[in-house]
Amino acid sequence: MNIFVIMKRTFDTEEKIVLKGGQIDDSGAEYIINPYDEYAIEEAIVLRDEHGGEVTVVTVGTEYAEKELRTALAMGADKAVLIDIEEVEASDQYSTAAILAAYLKDKEFDIILGGNIAVDNGTGQVGPRLAEMLGIPQVTTITNLKVYGNKATIVRDVEGDEETVEVILPVLVTAQQGLNEPRYPSLPGIMKAKKKPLETLELDDLDLEEDDVKANTKTLEIFLLPKKQAGKVLNGELNQQVLELVTLLRSEAKVI
Ligand SMILES: Cc1cc2nc3c(=O)[nH]c(=O)nc-3n(C[C@H](O)[C@H](O)[C@H](O)COP(=O)(O)OP(=O)(O)OC[C@H]3O[C@@H](n4cnc5c(N)ncnc54)[C@H](O)[C@@H]3O)c2cc1C
Repeated sequence: MNIFVIMKRTFDTEEKIVLKGGQIDDSGAEYIINPYDEYAIEEAIVLRDEHGGEVTVVTVGTEYAEKELRTALAMGADKAVLIDIEEVEASDQYSTAAILAAYLKDKEFDIILGGNIAVDNGTGQVGPRLAEMLGIPQVTTITNLKVYGNKATIVRDVEGDEETVEVILPVLVTAQQGLNEPRYPSLPGIMKAKKKPLETLELDDLDLEEDDVKANTKTLEIFLLPKKQAGKVLNGELNQQVLELVTLLRSEAKVI
């Protein structure tokens, strides 16, 4: 079974966002594999171990993403591919999906797994866009996946309820929390990962020009929400509290 995982390198969820000159300042920030993509990698490894084949993890990013690709290899993926877009002036969900589609269109694959959403930009668009561009079915927010021959039975999370679908391969799925428990890379896994293939490609290698993958959207402004003011606690008799609340709503909050 030929399995691809699309993986994004994201800010560590513990990082505090700091703005500098209207941009997110990432100097000194820790990066991790997007947590939803860890579920995708884990599921890919389990599928490969059950059905045979190979897991390739692909990311669109810069050379810094090599660290997260090596982590995916240490978890158990077989190959990693970095599509380096360092030189690209602006990128968005459309361009990321278009680059991934250009890479995958000539490959043989049974399943492509991605995360449901990236924890930073977080639009949840890249997977579905990629499936559309490749002309294959997509099932999002999955919590269970079983493959039988050329079919898969998939359970997806629907706002707390579940939907079970059957689909013919090849398919693109996006992983939701609960799909599995991603493993930590073991020490032997980390050692092995150093020798596993990590290929770096550029747009030229995919017969793409920067114009072919021009961003369709432009970020106009990035800002942090104003700090919440401390709340007010009302004390005393209930009647008194209600009177004070009404006065405050009228004179301070000016909402009535
Ligand atoms: C060099 C560089 C320049 C950039 N310039 C801009 C810019 O100018 N403006 C801007 O708004 N953004 C920019 N970005 C960010 C980038 O375009 C988006 O973060 C990206 O399109 C993913 O969008 P998202 O976070 O909404 O992903 P989502 O759609 O929420 O991600 C869902 C899933 O799609 C997959 N996925 C997402 N991104 C990638 C990826 N890069 N590679 C492989 N799989 C992926 C993962 O499986 C992920 O879980 C830049 C990124 C890089 C590396």
